[in-house]
Amino acid sequence: MCAATVEHNGITHRLGDEWIMEYAAGTLSEGEAVLVASHMSYRPDAARTMEAAEAIGGSLLEGETGTAMAPDALASVLSRIDEPAPGKQPVRPAPPPATTDRVLPAPLREWLGVDDVEDLNWSFMGPGMKKVMLWRGPGDQRVWMLRARPGTEIPVHGHRGTELTLVLKGAFKDPHGRFARGDIEEKNEADMHGLTIEEGEECICLALTEGPIRLKSVAARLIQPFIGL
Ligand code: ZN
Repeated sequence: MCAATVEHNGITHRLGDEWIMEYAAGTLSEGEAVLVASHMSYRPDAARTMEAAEAIGGSLLEGETGTAMAPDALASVLSRIDEPAPGKQPVRPAPPPATTDRVLPAPLREWLGVDDVEDLNWSFMGPGMKKVMLWRGPGDQRVWMLRARPGTEIPVHGHRGTELTLVLKGAFKDPHGRFARGDIEEKNEADMHGLTIEEGEECICLALTEGPIRLKSVAARLIQPFIGL
């Protein structure tokens, strides 16, 4: 699913509907749920999207296993919802909107129990880069944050499983486009990419990876044991 060309109140790259559906149904891992909730807090359509996801989520997830959701299922339900149903309380309310004066969105602040990125225990990751590991879960999932100086090049790498990267501050570019605050990039096993942090502002991202990332160059692989990813 690619929504990369849809510009919507500044959010250019949005998370696939299947993630929203699973979030609404409560079937995501703790780390996945935090990442999805954080992304939703940047989306102006969060409340309607959550309502649509709940409306169709239950029936799909209770269906036969292996049944794939139609790629446009959420969009088609959304197009039929004009107003939120009066008096209906959603199972998972949409997170409060992100504000520009804070780097960490509310779901992330709540989960971490910290107010600001300066409260986190950053450690060296590579030239111009710092990281902080936040969580490890089932399937070797890791939630961590990257903090990179303007102009930093992040080496070309692949992934053992899914990689979700949500931009909290600044922007980066890779062969798939430009990703700025609130944007999310989803990469899978087949995708290799290197990232360039934009000039002008540091970039802070919330990332979820499954297993260690696969670095392409020997030099990058040699430092991998020390960066812990
Ligand atoms: Zn990656």
